[in-house]
Amino acid sequence: MSESKKDRLKRLARNDQFISGIYNYCDRWCERCTLRNKCFSFAMDSDLRTENSPHNDPNNEEFWDGIHESFALAFELLQESAEKWGVDLNSDPDPKREKRERRRDRQTERDPLLKNSMAYAKAVDAWMDERKTLFGEKARQTEREIEMELPGHDPLPEVIALHEAVEVIRWYQYFLYPKISRAMSGLLDDERDMMDDVFGSAKIALIALERSIGAWQTLGRLLQQSDDVLELQIQLTKIKTELERRIPAARDFKRPGFDD
Ligand code: SF4
Repeated sequence: MSESKKDRLKRLARNDQFISGIYNYCDRWCERCTLRNKCFSFAMDSDLRTENSPHNDPNNEEFWDGIHESFALAFELLQESAEKWGVDLNSDPDPKREKRERRRDRQTERDPLLKNSMAYAKAVDAWMDERKTLFGEKARQTEREIEMELPGHDPLPEVIALHEAVEVIRWYQYFLYPKISRAMSGLLDDERDMMDDVFGSAKIALIALERSIGAWQTLGRLLQQSDDVLELQIQLTKIKTELERRIPAARDFKRPGFDD
C-alpha cells in the first residue's frame, strides 16, 4: 500500500468543500449528480478509479488487485479512526445485541412493504422482457421517420424521452428495496439516534418512487401502453402511500446538500 494514496485520501477527507454526509441519502446516480464536487465519496471513488483506471475489467487480474488494495486502504483508515475514538475492533460482539439485530432483520424481511418492493422490482424485469419486440418496433418506426424527414416532425425528442424514462425506471427498480429496508429496520431499532437515518432513507425512497411513477407515465404514453403500465404505477403508489403512512416525518427531513 503506497503511503501517498492514503495521505491523499486523508487530505481529501479534510477538505471543507465537501458537505458532510451528502452521500448518505442521495440516489447514488453520480453520473447525473449536480453535487459531485461537494461529495467526498465521489472524490474518493474518482481517486481510486484514477489509480486503477486501466483496471476496470473484472476479467483482468489487475482489477482484483485494485479491489484488494482499496479494501486494504479502507481497513487501514478504519483502524486508525477506531484507535482515535477508542473503539476496540477486536472486542467480542455483544450476544444480546446480535440477537436483537437478527430478530430485527427477520422482522424487516417479513414486512409486506419490503415484499411489495421486491415484487415490483421483479415485475419490472418481466414487463421489460415481454416488451422487447415492442421496443424493437418502436426503434424501427423511429428510424423510418428519420429517413422520411417529414416536415414539421422531429422524432428525436420522443426517442430521448423514451430512453430517459427507461433509464429512470431501471435505475430505481432495485434501489427501492435496500432504502426502504434500511428505513424499516431503523424504525425497529431501539436506538433513537437512528431516526435521521430512517427519515433520510425513507425520503430518498419516496423521491425514487415518485420519479418512477412519472417515468412509467411517460413510457406508457410514448408506447401507447398506458393501461398496461397502470398496474406497475398502482404497485408503486401503494408502496409510497404505505411508506408515508409509516414514516410521516420523512418528507420534512433535510438531506444534507440536496434539501438545504
Ligand atoms: S452525492 Fe452525488 S456524487 Fe455523491 S454519491 Fe451521491 S449521487 Fe454520487
